[in-house]
Amino acid sequence: MSTPVSLETVGRVPKALLHDHLDGGLRPATVVDIAGQVGYDDLPETDPEELATWFRTRSHSGSLERYLEPFSHTVAVMQTPDALYRVARECVEDLAADAVVYAEVRFAPELHIEGGLSFDEVTDAVLAGFADGELDAAAAGREITVRCLVTAMRHAALSREIAELAIRFRDKGVVGFDIAGAEAGYPPSRHLDAFEYMRDHNARFTIHAGEAFGLPSIHEAIAFCGADRLGHGVRITDDITVDPEDPSGTVRLGRLAAILRDKRVPLELCPSSNVQTGAVDSIAEHPFDLLARARLRVTVNTDNRLMSDTTMSKEMLVLAETFGYGWADLQRFTVNAMKSAFIPFDQRVQIIEEVIKPQYAALID
Ligand SMILES: [Zn+2]
Repeated sequence: MSTPVSLETVGRVPKALLHDHLDGGLRPATVVDIAGQVGYDDLPETDPEELATWFRTRSHSGSLERYLEPFSHTVAVMQTPDALYRVARECVEDLAADAVVYAEVRFAPELHIEGGLSFDEVTDAVLAGFADGELDAAAAGREITVRCLVTAMRHAALSREIAELAIRFRDKGVVGFDIAGAEAGYPPSRHLDAFEYMRDHNARFTIHAGEAFGLPSIHEAIAFCGADRLGHGVRITDDITVDPEDPSGTVRLGRLAAILRDKRVPLELCPSSNVQTGAVDSIAEHPFDLLARARLRVTVNTDNRLMSDTTMSKEMLVLAETFGYGWADLQRFTVNAMKSAFIPFDQRVQIIEEVIKPQYAALID
C-alpha cells in the first residue's frame, strides 16, 4: 500500500528550496528577543504568538506593496553582526528540521547597514551563521547545504555594487544575485549594468519578475537581462491559453512562454505568497498545475516563511491536496529545483542521485 502524502510524510522526504528570503523567515520569538536587546520599541506585538499572527494577517494584503510593509520590523532587528548571525543560523536549523537538504537563501545587504555595517560585514555575518547552522544540522543527523544569493532592491541604485559583492564572495558561499522589491515601475532593465557585470564574470542570477507585473517584466528579464531563473514568473500564464472546447485540455504557448519552456528556464513558484500578494486569488486558482502541465520547469518555494506562516512541507502538501500530486510529482518538482540550483553541476547531480532519488524511490509505486 502506498504511503499517503501528509504533512508528516512530506516532512520526512528531502526537499530543495531556491527562493527564500532571510528577512522573511525569522522565528517570531527571535524578533521579540532581538528587539528587546537592541531597544527596538516599534514592534506591533511583543508576544511571539501574537506577533506571528500579526505578520500572517498583515501580509495577506492583496498587493505586493502592502505585503512588503511588515518587513520593516524584521529588518529593524537585523542590523548587528550578532543578530544577522543568529537569524542565519536559525534559518538553517529550521530548514533542516523540515528535511530541506539544499537551500539558496537570499537577503539584501543594503537593508542591513543602518547600524553602520559595511556590505562585507553584513555578508560575513550571514555566511558565518549559515556555516554554523550547517554544522549544527549535521551534528543532529540532518545534512543540509545552504548557499546565499545577494539581492539588490529594484527601487534603489545599488545593484551594480551588490553584483560586485556577489563576485567578491563567490567562493565563500554566495552563489548568485537577484533583484527584489516593488515590481511595477521598476523594470529589470533598470539594472542592466549589474546583470552585465554578472554575465561578464560567468556568474548566475535570478530576477523577481512576473509576480506583481506581467509579461513585459518577464520579457525584459529573459531577453535583455539574461536571467538564469525567474523569481515567481507566474504571470507567464498571460501567454498561455487553454482551449475550453478541447476536452483534452490542450495548452497553447505564446512565444515568450515557449522560450521559457524550451530553454528550461526555472520558475521559482511560491504558492502561498502569491495568494497573499494577490498575484492569484487562491491556491485552487494558482497556475502551478497549468505551468507544470505546459512542461515549464516548475519549482516549489516558500518565499517568506514567517509572513506566510509556511514551510517547504506545507507548500508541497497544499499543492498535493489541491492538484492531486503523488510522490513521483513531488520528486519531479524537487529534482527540478536541484537541477536549477546555482552550485556546480557535479554537486547538483550528487544530491539528486544520492539523497533525493533514493528516498523518494521507497515511496513511488
Ligand atoms: Zn521573493
